[in-house]
Amino acid sequence: MQITIALTKGRILKETLPLLAAAGLEPAEDIAKSRKLIFPTNQENVRLLILRGSDVPTYVQHGAADMGVAGKDNLLEHDDSNIYEPLDLNIARCRLMTAGIKGAPLPSGRIKVATKFVQSAKRYYAAQGRQADIIKLYGAMELAPLMDLADEIVDIVDTGNTLKANGLEARDEIADISSRLIVNKASMKMKYGPINALIEQLAEAVRARSGE
Ligand code: AMP
Repeated sequence: MQITIALTKGRILKETLPLLAAAGLEPAEDIAKSRKLIFPTNQENVRLLILRGSDVPTYVQHGAADMGVAGKDNLLEHDDSNIYEPLDLNIARCRLMTAGIKGAPLPSGRIKVATKFVQSAKRYYAAQGRQADIIKLYGAMELAPLMDLADEIVDIVDTGNTLKANGLEARDEIADISSRLIVNKASMKMKYGPINALIEQLAEAVRARSGE
């Protein structure tokens, strides 16, 4: 029974591989040194896909991958009707926050908000009872308030250095973010044995790591 696991490339991948290794799963070749997108592993029936973070939930939602590792920021943006989220991997921790120019008060009435995280922003401002026009951006959100494209941004904050370097301040926290293990619901039913074994091994690896 073949198991396909979709991983998020970049910094999340660097933190994911040691957890997979602790659970007994290792890529058969060095992912960092290859331009391939599909990697066999030391377990004959398990292969890895290396994707952009925002594409991981899509592959798992449609069953093109059985499992995945995705940031909660991306999961919050996505239709998760076919997805279980059995495990918080406790890696790539950060916060989804609102931010704006330091000391600048928000205008009253309708505001403009620039973000990559459109759904999270919509839900957040609606819950605050604030009328917000959401402007979708794909990167460098910090620039939007400086160029008067937006009154606020919704972005990932880790150390806060990126905001600070651009004269911005973090304001409200919208969500605690970390990477999660996700599983396609049909795969969970049809491949329960191997998938559940892997979830348990990863849960043990997460526990061992947090006890360090
Ligand atoms: P910092 O300057 O440490 O607050 O980092 C902020 C920038 O790093 C954000 O704009 C994000 O693009 C990126 N970043 C930091 N941590 C993460 C994470 N865990 N997942 C995704 N992006 C992150």
